[in-house]
Amino acid sequence: MNKVNLLDLDRTALQAFFLDLGEKRFRTEQVMKWIYHEGVTDFAAMTNLSKPLRARLDQLAEIRLPQLLQPRLSSDGTRKWLVQLAGGNCIETVFIPEEDRGTLCVSSQIGCILDCTFCATAQQGFNRNLSTAEIIGQVWLAHHALGGGRAGSREISNIVLMGMGEPLYNFRNVVPALNLMQDDLAFGLSKRRVTLSTSGVVPTIYKLREVSDVSLAVSLHAPNDALRNQLVPLNRRYPLSELMAACSAYIKGLQPRRITWEYVMLDGVNDSDAHARELITLLGDIPSKVNLIPFNPFPQARYRRSPPDVIDRFRQILTAHGLTTVTRKTRGEDIEAACGQLAGQVQDRSRRHRPVRMSAA
Ligand code: SAH
Repeated sequence: MNKVNLLDLDRTALQAFFLDLGEKRFRTEQVMKWIYHEGVTDFAAMTNLSKPLRARLDQLAEIRLPQLLQPRLSSDGTRKWLVQLAGGNCIETVFIPEEDRGTLCVSSQIGCILDCTFCATAQQGFNRNLSTAEIIGQVWLAHHALGGGRAGSREISNIVLMGMGEPLYNFRNVVPALNLMQDDLAFGLSKRRVTLSTSGVVPTIYKLREVSDVSLAVSLHAPNDALRNQLVPLNRRYPLSELMAACSAYIKGLQPRRITWEYVMLDGVNDSDAHARELITLLGDIPSKVNLIPFNPFPQARYRRSPPDVIDRFRQILTAHGLTTVTRKTRGEDIEAACGQLAGQVQDRSRRHRPVRMSAA
């Protein structure tokens, strides 16, 4: 019989698990505190559970984490871990320390099915979705590798689902992981500090809003359909008009928060004054924050980074119009940990599909 990995269960699911066993509700609280606050993965060490319950849990359940391999440290303090999963594949998790916060960038799939032409993960093809345990396990492992500590004294203040994969194509496993990131009995981060980034899986943006109110980042990269079709092929399925409508609906009622638009700066491709003006029109009155990401190169990349003065000019056009715009500092480039450089080690890439054939969740 397969054991239940308790890291796959958010609070509601764990409650159901204990009720099924005929146990009281408060077991959920006890066990979650052991796992997420005390970092205990061995039932025998959960001393406030009765011995028979510990033995029963040992039979039925487990707390199984992926394995952290090869930590790499960038000269700027960014850390990248290769994380080995059951089956031999590896994904990557990145920690970016800044003065006032520490951001953990988490992967949601092994590889990616989207074929964005400027992204290294796309070259890897797609293998499979991560389980909830593998997603929240990245947070658990990084938290402990960074010295752990109880709630409040932690290094990880923000989590972004901006690693490998398209989180909205792994909705079923991502949502419980988002819940655990926010749950006081687990990592206790506020909704403002948990951000999901998507290339724009329109129906699933609506679905997400029904169950969650985490911050939303959208990989836009182009202000019109013709160009976005080339850069982000998913746009052929969900064009900008539909994407904008979904994002407006998502942010409704969540103000003062805003949608974060990610815009990779590609030399001579999407970085002209006209593109900036088109972007202003496109965003209209959606509460917005624009993140300009200088393109990060990788082997076989067919683009170059826009020069700093071009990026600056683009930013100024948006800012002059009242759009909050920041140029994202490139971090961890020397260890291939920057945006779009994550590759992991994907075996069996044969399951790549064209995005147009994918179902929404
Ligand atoms: N699939 C999701 C999650 C990945 S987030 C999404 O697309 O949003 C990773 C971010 O890095 C995305 O905004 C992506 O477009 C951006 N990115 C990809 N390749 C890049 C590169 N080479 N340079 C800079 N940013 C890149």
